[in-house]
Amino acid sequence: MEIGNWAHPLMTDYCNLFLDTLKSVVAKPAMLHEPNFSGNEWVYVKECIDTGWVSTAGKFVERFEQDLATFTHAKHTIATSNGTAALHACLELAGVRRDDEVILPTLTFVATANAVAYIGAVPHFADSEEKTLGLDANKLKLHLEAVAEINDNTCINTNTGRPIRAVICVHTYGHPVDIDPLIEVCRAWKLILIEDAAESLGSTYKGQHTGNFGRLAAFSFNGNKTITTGGGGAILTNDSDLARQAKHLTTTAKTQHSWEFNHDRIGYNYRMPNINAALGVAQLEQLPEFLNNKRRLANRYRSAFDGVKGMQSFQEPEFAHSNYWLNVILLEPDNENQLEPILKITNDAGYMTRPTWTLMHRLPMYETCPKMDLGCAQSIQQRLINLPSSSQLAVQ
Ligand SMILES: *Cc1c(COP(=O)(O)O)cnc(C)c1O
Repeated sequence: MEIGNWAHPLMTDYCNLFLDTLKSVVAKPAMLHEPNFSGNEWVYVKECIDTGWVSTAGKFVERFEQDLATFTHAKHTIATSNGTAALHACLELAGVRRDDEVILPTLTFVATANAVAYIGAVPHFADSEEKTLGLDANKLKLHLEAVAEINDNTCINTNTGRPIRAVICVHTYGHPVDIDPLIEVCRAWKLILIEDAAESLGSTYKGQHTGNFGRLAAFSFNGNKTITTGGGGAILTNDSDLARQAKHLTTTAKTQHSWEFNHDRIGYNYRMPNINAALGVAQLEQLPEFLNNKRRLANRYRSAFDGVKGMQSFQEPEFAHSNYWLNVILLEPDNENQLEPILKITNDAGYMTRPTWTLMHRLPMYETCPKMDLGCAQSIQQRLINLPSSSQLAVQ
């Protein structure tokens, strides 16, 4: 079949065209995102085992934090047990409390909403825009003008009477959200901005690494992310006082003493073990190479899919430099009914493609939460396909 040169395709033609286009870029079997351990992983992990420093103390944790701060140009990073724990701690450190509302996109991984719920706060779902796949700042502004008022320097949801305390933006699939207009909305409405940068290690907005814009940010190093520590995460902040508190809160809030066990608040055991940090140090050494390869793969997808009518590969907007953690194809609205058949034909053929997440406001535990019109996120959800995106796929 000739790619990009067809007139009135039947359903199977359209799906086959998608599959053929995918085949022209990567060989099967192609997983969605696989870890790549081709550096010093064995050397550093072996060192942990040989010396016995495998757990919650050891030199690799500090080294990982320093290397991560250097890479992201952040003043402080605090390694954690995973990205969800980092998000939870960010919310507590930002001063979000029980019965506050927190605005977040309905189009996100469940961890973003869960972290809000762990605090006892209430998720308030916002719409996304197609240009970034992230929060639509303008729509959020209009929504706040309709439902909120500022009272005593606090943003109040006039429908529920609850304070709206913070906004969590998500750099969806690694693609930076348009953050300047969001910062403006947060400033005008007295909202604290927190970045869920779990997917965006290596992505910059107007030249600055994601995670440096909000008061705090969370990263994830789960097995499917751009780099992995097995399980792991990090808090990033440029506020020295918050950084000190973040370390304290995530390490059981123990006060310094040579032998006494004293704790001055309810802390968490959210530490990253040294053996995981050892993996992370080795992974960070290879990150520039991973990012180059991921960009090459994204460019190949772009060339291949740009010739195909009825669908488009997602490309970074002019203000962003994306890590292309997961490549995205958006079907045109007319072709929504092709989503399921395309997922089936590609997965059957050994190519791991995936739809996006079930929207948060559709999950049983969050379906009664406050929300705005979510039309764009709903449309994206019916048309989005994630393509196999491991960095190794660019060099096969
Ligand atoms: C992966 C991810 C998280 C959670 O990270 P874990 O390390 O798996 O806990 C949070 N938010 C988003 C958007 C993610 O993709």
